[in-house]
Amino acid sequence: MSRQKLEAMGQKLPLLPVSTVGSLPKPPELTEARSRFAKNQITRNELESLEKRATEFWVQTQEEIGVDVLVDGEQYRGDMVAYFAERMGGFQVGGLVRSYGNRYYHKPVITGTVKWPGPLTVSWWKWTQSLTSKPVKGMVTGPYTIMDWSFNDHYPRRQTACLALAREIRKEVEALIEAGAKIIQIDEPAMSVRQEEFPFAIEATHLVTDGLPAYFITHACYGAFETIYPDMLELPTDNLDLAITHSALDLLKIFENDPFTKDLSLGVLDVHSHAVESAEQVKDRVMRAVHVLPADRIWVDPDCALKTRTPEEAIGKMRVMMAAVRELRQTLGNGAR
Ligand SMILES: [Zn+2]
Repeated sequence: MSRQKLEAMGQKLPLLPVSTVGSLPKPPELTEARSRFAKNQITRNELESLEKRATEFWVQTQEEIGVDVLVDGEQYRGDMVAYFAERMGGFQVGGLVRSYGNRYYHKPVITGTVKWPGPLTVSWWKWTQSLTSKPVKGMVTGPYTIMDWSFNDHYPRRQTACLALAREIRKEVEALIEAGAKIIQIDEPAMSVRQEEFPFAIEATHLVTDGLPAYFITHACYGAFETIYPDMLELPTDNLDLAITHSALDLLKIFENDPFTKDLSLGVLDVHSHAVESAEQVKDRVMRAVHVLPADRIWVDPDCALKTRTPEEAIGKMRVMMAAVRELRQTLGNGAR
């Protein structure tokens, strides 16, 4: 069903479209430039030219590997929530807090009415799309995750903050569509963590996507999906991107009882491991999904962003993923579509 929606928008994708989750590793010279920029040692223009060079590198690399739906690699973003919060009205930069593992970030504080300041990612999307004939995904951090990863000193409830953010993030999505983006990913890593808040996370997604002409992917991770399945099928999105490599493998068993009704982006690469998977491992993971879902509703990608890997590891993993998918396309052929 969604494949028809994509084709109607002029996006004809092969069986098992391959994509990545969003942010790719930054080359060492860019990481160094970011810290020098933070200390006022280089200009914004100098930083931006390195960000553009890194973006070009990742576009060429994805094309060379054969990825079907590209990302800009988010070379211009630091933290996925802070990037939006620091630029939106109603936020102040907070103190340093620890998130996952040894990652520290400045947790934003909502101190006033949140406000979209004008396009935040659109010029990067446009520029990246100008470098390739393959589709480039528009990428926004979702309202639930921005709310969850910020302190709230302004709104009476978490729900009110989340819905206010949703109305503003919708404006970024509208601007991406206006610029030509057909496939838009909403990153909601926090979405599946608090089961009791899931109803308003769904409501927020409605506010972001309803009535807009794009194919929407919701990327979730970190959660226990069993607790919000099959409710998550109510998300108004075309494609759910789930980390399958670890816990979610059991989810495929759950699908047997409550059939999965959307397209599935199947995470097949462990982004926390240095080891590059074998093609056999990747094929095995994809086939587990093929046994419970029609192959033409399955996309293939890593579990999450590859940004924590070295560029070499990320490229190695992407190559194996692509090689495995090429073999599966041969095996499954047109009969599976
Ligand atoms: Zn993720």
